Amino acid sequence: MNITIFGSGYVGLVTAACFAEVGNHVVCVDVDARKVATLQSGKCPFYEPGLDGLLTSGIEAGRLRFTTDAADAVRHGTYQLIAVGTPPGEDGSADLQYVLQVARTIAAHLDDYRVIINKSTVPVGTADKVRSAVSEVLAQRGVSQDYDVVSNPEFLKEGAAVGDFRKPDRIIVGADTDRPAELMRSLYEPFNRNHDRVLLMDVRSAELTKYAANAMLATKISFMNEVANIAERVGADVELVRRGMGSDPRIGFHFIYPGCGYGGSCFPKDVKALAHLARETGFAPRLLDSVEAVNHDQKRFLHAKMRAHFGSLAGRTIALWGLAFKPNTDDMREAPSRELMEAIWADGGAVRAYDPVAMEETRKIYGDRPDLTLVESAEEACEGADALALVTEWKPFQSPNFELIASLLKEKVLFDGRNLYNPETLRDLGFRHYAIGRAARV
Ligand code: NAD
Repeated sequence: MNITIFGSGYVGLVTAACFAEVGNHVVCVDVDARKVATLQSGKCPFYEPGLDGLLTSGIEAGRLRFTTDAADAVRHGTYQLIAVGTPPGEDGSADLQYVLQVARTIAAHLDDYRVIINKSTVPVGTADKVRSAVSEVLAQRGVSQDYDVVSNPEFLKEGAAVGDFRKPDRIIVGADTDRPAELMRSLYEPFNRNHDRVLLMDVRSAELTKYAANAMLATKISFMNEVANIAERVGADVELVRRGMGSDPRIGFHFIYPGCGYGGSCFPKDVKALAHLARETGFAPRLLDSVEAVNHDQKRFLHAKMRAHFGSLAGRTIALWGLAFKPNTDDMREAPSRELMEAIWADGGAVRAYDPVAMEETRKIYGDRPDLTLVESAEEACEGADALALVTEWKPFQSPNFELIASLLKEKVLFDGRNLYNPETLRDLGFRHYAIGRAARV
């Protein structure tokens, strides 16, 4: 099959590489010429486990190529996928300018039947807007051309994206007629062999499903953070509470870890966008607003503990482990580390940070500044620092040599933003250990 994908970001590239792997011919088009040049030279512009190799083999097999030439791209694929960003606007709504730009671009070159597939996360009603944008351009061209618009939201997780795409939990297809629905079934056939994962529904339900799923996950996190904050005040240990809760199969153990807030390019913007969508209909989304408010406060948790411990952070240096918003990615969008570092800097403190892959991204965001030192190892971050803060639970941080860490730090203080460490072990080593909702233990 011939497939075109607009947008060579996390979603676009993983989708492209996985469709090429199963024998399709895929063209990726992006407006960022530098990104396209990087990809043409066989390099992946970001870190995603397993993606590099897939891109290389797709290119070498002649089934995957990259271009900035939209006319060529629209000519190529019966399937035209939109996988561009939908960042939050000022009011929290999803900014659809890139999606609609792609719709107009497709329409400008449309001269045969195409199915336009929206993979970006978009508010309910976007398919209608895409249809209007395409019709408008076709009318301007004086062309009458058959096409369909479907919704096919993406559920991959950064850090595990290739595996998620190859073995999806579900393939949501929002299509209002049979022809595009059948085309979508054929497209996903190689990923749908073991059992039928295609959930066919109307376009609006498909669009809402993606927001509802992300909002539910964010809600679980904020809920646990709220429980942790209560646990801290009543002298309970949220880690024991979590285990007690999770063993009820109706609750389960997934996604109920308390921490220093959720980040990334999806949860924060999707919760806000769903709340905005609700408000547009005149409905007050009280739960969603609270999920967002709890997370906003939780991202300040470690900083508040630091201030309480040190009095003032002026002249203090904090060693920071983990910059990416979660392990196994270099994505720094809305990462809790950013808010923490910015708060430390605002107080006159400095940061020595280490992350296994997100240092380059951090450098791109903050450039060279005297109060940020990016170092080559977790241990080096601790050298001469006043305290250590664990922000992202990367595997290499899970079992550190605490005796060595203690000898490198000026003071044995650890702010554990992911409840990664055993309070008793740290206490025995003489550490002051601040964790989330573990007043009973630390
Ligand atoms: P991204 O920011 O990594 O990539 C978007 C790409 O689109 C960029 O390379 C940009 O240059 C390109 N682009 C912008 N306008 C374009 C145009 N007119 N033509 C061609 N290319 C254009 O975005 P992402 O993280 O891949 O997310 C894309 C969408 O998928 C978003 O709506 C996001 O919410 C959703 N999503 C993301 C994830 C994730 O984990 N990142 C998961 C599921 C869904």
